[in-house]
Amino acid sequence: MVWADLILTAKDKLAKNIIMVIGDGMGPAYTTGYRYYMDNINTPQVETTIFDKLLTGMVSTYPVNSQGYVTDSAAAATALSTGYKTYNGAIGVDVNKKPLLTLMERAKQLGKKTGLVVTSQINHATPAAYFSHNESRKNYNEIADSYFDDKINGHFKANLMLGGGSKYFIRPDRNLVSEFKQADFQYIDDLSKLTSLNKQQPVLGLFAEVGLPWTLDNKNENHLLAMAKAGVRHLENNEGYVLLVEASQIDWAGHSNDIAAAMAEMQDLAETLTWLKNYVENRDDTLLVATADHSTGGLTLGANGDYRWQPEFLKNLTASPKSIATKLAHQNTAISAQQLTDALGFIITDQEANLFIGRSDEKSIYEQIKLLIDSRTNTGWTSGGHTGIDVQVFATGNGAKAFNRHQTNTDIAKQLFLVLEGN
Ligand code: MG
Ligand code: ZN
Repeated sequence: MVWADLILTAKDKLAKNIIMVIGDGMGPAYTTGYRYYMDNINTPQVETTIFDKLLTGMVSTYPVNSQGYVTDSAAAATALSTGYKTYNGAIGVDVNKKPLLTLMERAKQLGKKTGLVVTSQINHATPAAYFSHNESRKNYNEIADSYFDDKINGHFKANLMLGGGSKYFIRPDRNLVSEFKQADFQYIDDLSKLTSLNKQQPVLGLFAEVGLPWTLDNKNENHLLAMAKAGVRHLENNEGYVLLVEASQIDWAGHSNDIAAAMAEMQDLAETLTWLKNYVENRDDTLLVATADHSTGGLTLGANGDYRWQPEFLKNLTASPKSIATKLAHQNTAISAQQLTDALGFIITDQEANLFIGRSDEKSIYEQIKLLIDSRTNTGWTSGGHTGIDVQVFATGNGAKAFNRHQTNTDIAKQLFLVLEGN
């Protein structure tokens, strides 16, 4: 009894560090799908995943009441970062477009380090709602400018920013990269530099013009994992830190109704969470919370009255469906069944290859490839947009128990503010 109490007491200590992870668009169908995608078919049981191990509670995602219950990433991230529900498109502002204090700003006021690690552009809706205020997520340049111009007690809001988006930071009208460099930031544009960051200097790392490449097109260490490890190591300090980690492109795969890309993005997030879980559970001063902002695409595992979902057909793709389509669109000869078989890693019949006749543009070829994958795997989609289903919350470390219930997204922010104030 005494021993158990001691463990509880140690784990109840307020976290000094908070790692907030968001799987953009990652509704329950994605975490379930990932379990079957990773299932070892040579064992009788279905193996559990990192998501199963960390599962803590459920979260409703609706924006302000008048919006039909389906949120976008901006309103959801504002709810998660400030504790206030707002309108779709809002970046860190309330329904009257007034700025709301964010978790990152409060952390900075308290002398902690802050950072963001994302696979989208760093000024995309989710990270922007933690570090900026704007009436519209579409004002990408203004949001990028604010990362340099807006300060908390004279300090930049973020000590570390890793992701994509160089086209918004190096523009004809303003070169924010050189401004950051002059302000003593170290700038990197190559992921291999992540392991040799100078801990004494803040970091800006932009590894793509917009979003990072699909995980399926990456032959090196997964991007989110590599950036998250570097982020954690860089931010560690005596006063603590708050880090946002976003698997941004699960959502993009969902919008495209691309199950192959979605599962690969899930794998990068799963590897990242596995590393973070191990990191957090080997110390007693850090809280890891992971959730989604909403679900995307109306993904179903099984479709059309057919009782099967077969993710094994996603295992042998040589590249992302988008990249395969781009390559096929640039050849002069007809697309053959053998070519498709080689690229997709499952047998395509001549009859199926005939469906590509007359399709010469990338978009149309991409659509047809996705239809083939959906019919083999029996994957269903009901939307190219978001849906209003509740999402899950996953947590471990100091204070993780607080999320063990049904909550709405603003409750997560309120709880994290309490943790910050308790320090
Ligand atoms: Mg996002
Ligand atoms: Zn989306």
